[in-house]
Amino acid sequence: MTMYVFGHKSPDSDAVCSAIALANLKSRTGVEAVPVAQGKLNPETSFILNRYGFTAPDVMNSFAGQQIMLVDFSDKAQGPEDLDKADIVGIVDHHKLGDVTTPNPVECWIWPVGCSSTVLKSMYDFYGVEIPKDVAGIMLCSILSDTVIFKSATCTDRDKAAAEALAKIAGETDLQSLGMEMFKVKSAIAGTPVRELVMRDYKDFKMGGNTIGIGQLEVVDLSLLDEVKADLAKDIQALKTEGGRHSVLLLLTDIIKEGSEMLIASDDASIVTKAFGQQPADGKVWLSGVMSRKKQVVPPLEKVFAG
Ligand code: MN
Ligand code: MN
Repeated sequence: MTMYVFGHKSPDSDAVCSAIALANLKSRTGVEAVPVAQGKLNPETSFILNRYGFTAPDVMNSFAGQQIMLVDFSDKAQGPEDLDKADIVGIVDHHKLGDVTTPNPVECWIWPVGCSSTVLKSMYDFYGVEIPKDVAGIMLCSILSDTVIFKSATCTDRDKAAAEALAKIAGETDLQSLGMEMFKVKSAIAGTPVRELVMRDYKDFKMGGNTIGIGQLEVVDLSLLDEVKADLAKDIQALKTEGGRHSVLLLLTDIIKEGSEMLIASDDASIVTKAFGQQPADGKVWLSGVMSRKKQVVPPLEKVFAG
């Protein structure tokens, strides 16, 4: 029986690259595994796959009756509608434990590191499987993307060590310039519909019975977003209404200045003040040093909603 391996909705580079790497590992340990994605790839991910000669995984959104492994998420809200009807045989992740449950024992690799590919590097070592050069390349880029070239608060020594080892296998010597090349691709937004930008790296979270959507756009210079900022602010208002959400927050992250401007659409904007100790003005606020949704944005918000 074929096993499908996939990452979260609105797939980022880690969700795609780590799914490919995990499917490769499983295939080489005798399990027929195929990587798929829950949506279209972003430009950064296409750049990475191109660079190492991979084609985009097929998009697949229904898994009822299938064997699956989840990568880079364990929250139902980030999975397909019929996730409950699938047979989850494994999870590889680096986020807080989500709300999926399984009737059977499950192979679970969830570590507090900066990237799923860092966990995967250890899985290859554990199973004694050599990492192919091209797979090492996409795993390396996955780490550079998730850790914002090792600058994110989520980056650990394990991520750096894994990246170094993968770079050797992939034959990459200048990780800074490789990372910057990726983030320049990621920063290019010309001609992209506003909704696509909002959804590019977007996740819904359940907090105190409310749906809170949090998106993030990472750029090498915030001024690149000047001309679309007003439209982005308008669109997150629309997205909030459409989904009956309590809030939609959009982080515009400047990876050089190392901080984020947060655009806010909310039924109660005081949650932002309570969570971050800063008063928004005009539906936005600058959060210095904040680059990680997972580590610096979701936890303080959850605290506010837990009351
Ligand atoms: Mn991800
Ligand atoms: Mn990740």
